[in-house]
Amino acid sequence: MTEKIEAGMACDVAVIGSGLAGLTAANYLAKLGYRVALCEQHYALGGLAAHFSRKNHIFDVSLHGFPVGMVKSCRKYWSPEIAESIVQLKRIRFVNPQFDIETTFTREDFTRILIEKFHISAECVDNFFTELRQMNFYDDDRRPTRELFELFFPGRDDVHRLLMEPIAYANGSTLDDEAITYGIVFSNFMSKGVYTFEGGTDQLIQKMTAELLKNGVDIFKRTKVEKILLKNNKISGVRANGIDISCRAVLSNAHVLNTVKTLVGEQYFDEKFLKKIEKVRINNSSCQVYLGIKDGEAIDDIGDLIFTSENEHFSSAELKDFHTKSRTFSLYYPKTRPQQRPMCAVVASMNAHWDDWSALDSEIYGREKDRIIEDSIQSLEQFIPNIREKIDYAGAATPRTLFRYTSHPNGTSFGTKFEGLSVSMELPEQIPGLYHAGSVGIIMSGWLGAMNYGVIAAHKLAQNL
Ligand SMILES: Cc1cc2nc3c(=O)[nH]c(=O)nc-3n(C[C@H](O)[C@H](O)[C@H](O)COP(=O)(O)OP(=O)(O)OC[C@H]3O[C@@H](n4cnc5c(N)ncnc54)[C@H](O)[C@@H]3O)c2cc1C
Repeated sequence: MTEKIEAGMACDVAVIGSGLAGLTAANYLAKLGYRVALCEQHYALGGLAAHFSRKNHIFDVSLHGFPVGMVKSCRKYWSPEIAESIVQLKRIRFVNPQFDIETTFTREDFTRILIEKFHISAECVDNFFTELRQMNFYDDDRRPTRELFELFFPGRDDVHRLLMEPIAYANGSTLDDEAITYGIVFSNFMSKGVYTFEGGTDQLIQKMTAELLKNGVDIFKRTKVEKILLKNNKISGVRANGIDISCRAVLSNAHVLNTVKTLVGEQYFDEKFLKKIEKVRINNSSCQVYLGIKDGEAIDDIGDLIFTSENEHFSSAELKDFHTKSRTFSLYYPKTRPQQRPMCAVVASMNAHWDDWSALDSEIYGREKDRIIEDSIQSLEQFIPNIREKIDYAGAATPRTLFRYTSHPNGTSFGTKFEGLSVSMELPEQIPGLYHAGSVGIIMSGWLGAMNYGVIAAHKLAQNL
């Protein structure tokens, strides 16, 4: 592995950022025989697919669950070994004032639940799933999810909650976002349920790094790209840590707005495109509470993922409120990392707004972090009454934490809203040789969405190089 960039270096493609889209694109291009330089500003690869250690604990930032499609994508674009470590999470629970159910989160089980518990006709459920299956990311269908739900389940706030709540955590979408951003992601999960990577994020990224090195990618950590360099309006290189590297194409995994406004500069784009850029909405961010369980203490199997809320009714706005009473618990039992000594951890996730956290002074910021830790522990006590005495580490991350580690505007967890996808795809029409891959348009976010988008963009880049 090359440690540091040096003046005079040259490559075919510079990949900016090592999120799952950047990593997968770099690997895809290297396997085609291109010389790839992967520049990551952080000391670790993976972007939001991150892990960190505190005390004796290892915590996963975004390993809560992904669709089965990851098995195929990992086998095809990474290795059989990575694909074979993907296992199903079987116990998904919903606990709120409207219902308390457990499901495998598959189409069969959701059909059963909708018919038996929510008394929806089998025909209506079938028609709903058929409608979702027919959605494609390139469709120009702008009707909101709210309208789709009203069409199939009019006035059924409880059904809307069952269908929407998990996807709101998975990609930040709301009832007012385009229905295809809901339908595609929900259908992906419904095919066979929710999956995870056995071994933890640390093992996944280690295995991916080994593949990248085997395929000849030059990896530069702690290497922040400051500028994408152009000559005659075409890509000529990147400037990172003050040093210029020349290249024929750039694939940016930095946020699409940062790519246009900071890394390239708005003066290089046409007016029509800039008008589109101005309309791109940044998706929401999130808060997490990390709870480490003392060595030697076991916790009962209460499920793998628990969507819980004290709110009487479903509300997209409440889900992101500063004082939300809705959160998801991810449970990490010893089976998550069979290679390690038995370890247990719980992570509570909440959606959040940047504006609620960005301006707090350090004293209030610390107090509010303590508040979300305490709220999460109290909520967890309904499932494990003696959990407090088993915890020996508690920490919180906020939109500010996500911003610090990724530089994404507003610490966004899921890139941009729908309109971000078309601007990301149009970049090479504006500047030949410039591509973007990473969370955009809600659809291309999440582990599977980002990884697959990395391949789509790398394939397009290779065709034009
Ligand atoms: C708390 C949380 C929980 C999540 N849970 C799940 C989940 O359970 N399942 C799921 O499927 N998805 C989940 N997601 C979403 C998922 O993690 C992301 O959608 C996905 O990992 C994003 O990948 P990406 O390729 O878009 O890039 P990112 O992971 O956003 O990485 C971008 C990288 O680019 C680097 N970078 C940026 N600018 C520069 C620069 N100028 N120079 C060099 N490097 C730069 C950053 O440091 C970063 O490493 C979660 C996200 C969050 C925040």
